Amino acid sequence: MWHLDATLTRFASVACEFPLDPTRAPVKTAVMSTATLSVDLDAIAANWRALDKASASGVQTAAVVKANAYGLGLPRVARALAQAGARRFFVAVTEEGANLRQILGPGPQICVLSGHMAGDTEMVSDLDLTPMLNSLDQVTRHLESLPGHAFGVQLDTGMNRLGMEEPEWEAIAPFVLEAGPELLMSHLACADDPDHALNEQQLASFLAMTDGTGVPRSLAATGGILLGPKYHFDLTRPGIGLYGCRPYEAARPVVSLSLPVIQTRLIAPGESVGYGCTWVAEQPTTVASLSGGYADGLPRTLSNAAMLWDGDTPCPLIGRVSMDTITVDISHLAQIPRSLDILGPNQSADDLADTAGTIGYEILTGLSARYYRRYYEGGK
Ligand SMILES: *Cc1c(COP(=O)(O)O)cnc(C)c1O
Repeated sequence: MWHLDATLTRFASVACEFPLDPTRAPVKTAVMSTATLSVDLDAIAANWRALDKASASGVQTAAVVKANAYGLGLPRVARALAQAGARRFFVAVTEEGANLRQILGPGPQICVLSGHMAGDTEMVSDLDLTPMLNSLDQVTRHLESLPGHAFGVQLDTGMNRLGMEEPEWEAIAPFVLEAGPELLMSHLACADDPDHALNEQQLASFLAMTDGTGVPRSLAATGGILLGPKYHFDLTRPGIGLYGCRPYEAARPVVSLSLPVIQTRLIAPGESVGYGCTWVAEQPTTVASLSGGYADGLPRTLSNAAMLWDGDTPCPLIGRVSMDTITVDISHLAQIPRSLDILGPNQSADDLADTAGTIGYEILTGLSARYYRRYYEGGK
């Protein structure tokens, strides 16, 4: 019975470290193999206040919390923003709005960017959601099914995504305005590029479609806020800036992500690492396998390209990103770390996005549901 004693001894020591005793408090970070995503709620609140200050005091600043608050976790983020002073929230779809209403309770206004779809009526009504109507179809559905219920109108000024176009709007504007929309809004396609000609064109188109209506107006998301006061109108709708990403360069950083080391091994020159053997050792190398992969929102384009960080020491990702695991060269570290950071002070979501060939928005909204989300608030 080779090794049996040693195996049993090892098992006994493991069992002793992590007894299956339900009365014991669960051990958190020390034994988890899931990664920890830390979210600084104070930073989100500070970013909201700073973006609020960037427009005149008469301009309301909403908060966009679609896609689970850009991946960071809707319940805690929405409550932190409400506490910071946000009174109006935007989500993409009605189910998100329903969820948010349960989190925030009555009071704050919840606007739904996809408008009023067939099947939404009951939720819109029962949970007091405000759909931004995008088409004549939606206007008809809303006014027929919920007469007197709050709504806004989304206008297309050149992005060609959501909202009514100028001719359609002109035809029905008198009738829609009669029904009392509480917001007319549009969205800029190139606000992250202040020199792009489309910004001025969209602004002119928005003015032409809304001047003289007397209805509150909104054109700017994060990028639009930074374009200056003529883009602010009555209400701004920042999303990405709250979460610390471009184009809001002055944002306070919000997230850090730490991936536990599951296993390490020493490999010899000539040995390869990972699927497809895309990385081959040229010298003896200590390889750490970390918990987190493309199923967790770490793009496969990070393969053989990204850095992880042990404090301030960079450690290159080697081989391909696989579904649940990445492999990292830690040969130069004096000790085997418990975890390595892929987001943090040395690498923002935008930095990682640059390496992956995408944008910070996609990195954030892809952050895994598997990550353990840890929230810092009140300086803790
Ligand atoms: C997502 C979105 C926003 C927020 O945009 P950011 O660039 O994240 O600030 C605002 N308005 C609309 C219509 C959106 O789709």
